[in-house]
Amino acid sequence: MPKDTKNCRILEPEYESMSREKLEALQLERLQETVKHVYENVPMYKERMDALGVKPEDIKSLSDITKLPYTDKPDLRDHFPDGLFAVPRKEIVRIQGSSGTTGKPIVSGYTQNDIDVWTNMVARALAEAGCTDEDTIQVTYGYGLFTGGLGVHQGASKLGATVIPMSSGNTQRQIMMLKELGATMVCCTPSYATLLGETIREMGIDPSELKLKSGCFGAEPWTSEMRDNLESLLDFNAFDIYGLTEIGGPGVAFECRERCGLHVNEDHVIAEIINPETGEHMPDGETGELVFTTITKTGQPMIRYRTHDLCTLTREKCACGRTTARMGRITGRSDDMIIVRGVNVFPSQIESVIVGMEGVAPHYMLIVDRKNSSDTLEVQIELKEELVSDTVSHVEELRNKITEQIKSVVGVMAKVTIVPPKTLPRFEGKARRVIDNRKL
Ligand code: ADP
Ligand code: ZN
Repeated sequence: MPKDTKNCRILEPEYESMSREKLEALQLERLQETVKHVYENVPMYKERMDALGVKPEDIKSLSDITKLPYTDKPDLRDHFPDGLFAVPRKEIVRIQGSSGTTGKPIVSGYTQNDIDVWTNMVARALAEAGCTDEDTIQVTYGYGLFTGGLGVHQGASKLGATVIPMSSGNTQRQIMMLKELGATMVCCTPSYATLLGETIREMGIDPSELKLKSGCFGAEPWTSEMRDNLESLLDFNAFDIYGLTEIGGPGVAFECRERCGLHVNEDHVIAEIINPETGEHMPDGETGELVFTTITKTGQPMIRYRTHDLCTLTREKCACGRTTARMGRITGRSDDMIIVRGVNVFPSQIESVIVGMEGVAPHYMLIVDRKNSSDTLEVQIELKEELVSDTVSHVEELRNKITEQIKSVVGVMAKVTIVPPKTLPRFEGKARRVIDNRKL
């Protein structure tokens, strides 16, 4: 349990704590509306449902959801930018996005209804972390296309808190503002929060000189050891928050004071666990891939969206009073995506930079680590045989060019190391090109 739960509260008990029976009836009604809406307005869903021989009227119970087709990241890329919008462009009031698999971002279009839904989801998470109109919240998630900054901003504003929209980066300035403006809450990635905590300690500042009492941290995997460490660095309560752009952003699920999983906002999304290999629906309690169907979004609803995040689900009532399903911590991914400093990185993106580039062979390895609470990414690439006798400055030039391209395609700064020909592993079968030393 967090050490101070005084202000932890259920923002909308009429939804968050409703009986499972009522909740499921509400889900069914909203699912039926959503399926009808996408069938009539999104050609991809109509084609896929027609191919499976399923009509909106066939969704008669919640378990009929398994009749519906899946959606995956490539669908968003293939229909970029607005091919999955289910309303005319004039009804879209916001577009947010995140890194895709090959440099093209994936975007989500929001109607005003969708912004309100998302705002509410984040507000629930913040309220559980104790946020009220008495609080000052420093938002240290990045603002922009990335959903973190604006998502928390909107949720906190809804609760009447004082928002400091710092955005990410500039640690010294963050700390100065924390001190001077007296934020009681801070929200960012858990690794950045740890870096803030460590820097605060290094500067000789005692947490008692700050007013921090809690924060919501997410956008990347973290462990309970990382939480313990963060809480002792800043002497406050750290809550986990989960989300993804495709489903709306942070707040899809959030942790409560009981620390026994993250409550899924089930009146807005239906969560399923499937076998990532076969696509079969799996029972609660078993580890599999998390799949979400949005049931209140109108701009760009998602039907059975495969998150590729591996975890479990439970629908047992929680001691906090909520009845909504809880997801366990993410224990891995069913694809090869890694998250580096909050940015989704696919090896295929790096590959797209390297393949076709003169001077290097199409063999590479990614080595991820965490140093001083910040992720590092090293990309090792093999030099081509014919360049071995090349001048050092030529190789250096090549290295800089690759570094730059990776930064522009992937969005993160990587340390590029050019290694001699034939020194990287070759793979028979599925290549394992990522070594993650972060132990998440
Ligand atoms: P976000 O803005 O939340 O980072 P993205 O769409 O860029 O959204 O990335 C979503 C992915 O980030 C999720 O599918 C998951 O892998 C990861 N993620 C987000 N929040 C968490 C969390 N609390 N714990 C573990 N992984 C998370
Ligand atoms: Zn709970």
